[in-house]
Amino acid sequence: MKKHAIIPVFIPHQGCPNNCVFCNQKAITAHRPDVTLDEVRNTIETWLSTLTGREGMETIEIAFFGGSFTGIPPEQQSAYLEIAHEYKESGRIHKIHLSTRPDYISHEILDNLKKYKVDVIELGVQSFDDGVLAASGRGHDSKCVYEACSLIKEYGFELGIQLMIGLPQDSMEKCIYSAMEAVKIGPQIARLYPTIVIEDTELMEMYRNGKYTPLTTEEAVERTKEMYRILTDAGINIIRVGLKSSDIINENGSIEGTTFHPAFRQLVEGSIARDKMEALLSENMPENVEPCWDRFVSKEVCFYSNSKWFSAMIGHKGCNKKHFETCYPGLEFKFNAIDMDDTLIGMSVAWSPDFMIK
Ligand code: SF4
Repeated sequence: MKKHAIIPVFIPHQGCPNNCVFCNQKAITAHRPDVTLDEVRNTIETWLSTLTGREGMETIEIAFFGGSFTGIPPEQQSAYLEIAHEYKESGRIHKIHLSTRPDYISHEILDNLKKYKVDVIELGVQSFDDGVLAASGRGHDSKCVYEACSLIKEYGFELGIQLMIGLPQDSMEKCIYSAMEAVKIGPQIARLYPTIVIEDTELMEMYRNGKYTPLTTEEAVERTKEMYRILTDAGINIIRVGLKSSDIINENGSIEGTTFHPAFRQLVEGSIARDKMEALLSENMPENVEPCWDRFVSKEVCFYSNSKWFSAMIGHKGCNKKHFETCYPGLEFKFNAIDMDDTLIGMSVAWSPDFMIK
């Protein structure tokens, strides 16, 4: 399988004037010096030494993360981009990727990014609901998001949209609305991040004062699952679901609530797979057989998936496997990976041997 690698270069937004309630970058980076050009080069070289020549490697991207790349001074942006551009021109990397805020997009900014052959712009949209944006201290409204996305697409950049789940005043309905609005815009990629309450943030204060209640892991999975379905059904590639521990820039090491889970994507995809398997099973169960499984000579149900979805089908720590074995004690379940790219989850059943669903 062809692989895609990202070389992450973290460029914090020093002196960011915004006050996003969930952000601890300001507190942490306030006393750190800027990332030097040598550090950028060293990061790229270190990654390239492990990636170059790796079998099946198709594309390598340099990605400037940190939230607001186009909010840093223009000359500093150009200095970082000059390096990335040099690597792209030499053919050692293939794409330049950066993330920023919707209100840091303008003709002038995009002209400069075009000059350095930037490919992908990811916007931290977080929500399309103005109430959620205001309650989260984002400092821009949804109108700004639509305008920024439209301009990015007009310039021909690949567009990414990041959405957060469980911000203040958010709800399942607002999450679904945000996913549907994202579909209307039509980004190529998306990321879904449940909101985590981290030390050194206003959200932590709100939590301690009883003004904010974080989602439980289960609630976050339910909301994210709906958004995931809407986005993937529209052909949008979801490149990240949930934060990794290493993403949480937190010198004190403390987070509150139970929203964070290190295998969050697997929980979401496992839940989607379970729903699909339940639907397949109930659709194809011979009528009124549940009380009398014994009438079947074989009671085997084989769920299958392509290799990408296999671990989701089994579920985190085998939870889907356990679920079916517990809920349907009269049946024998098998789980197989098959070599079919277009099949996420399928099922064949022994009581109707010719029957197979894709
Ligand atoms: S998340 Fe908000 S407050 Fe934090 S660095 Fe980005 S724009 Fe600034």
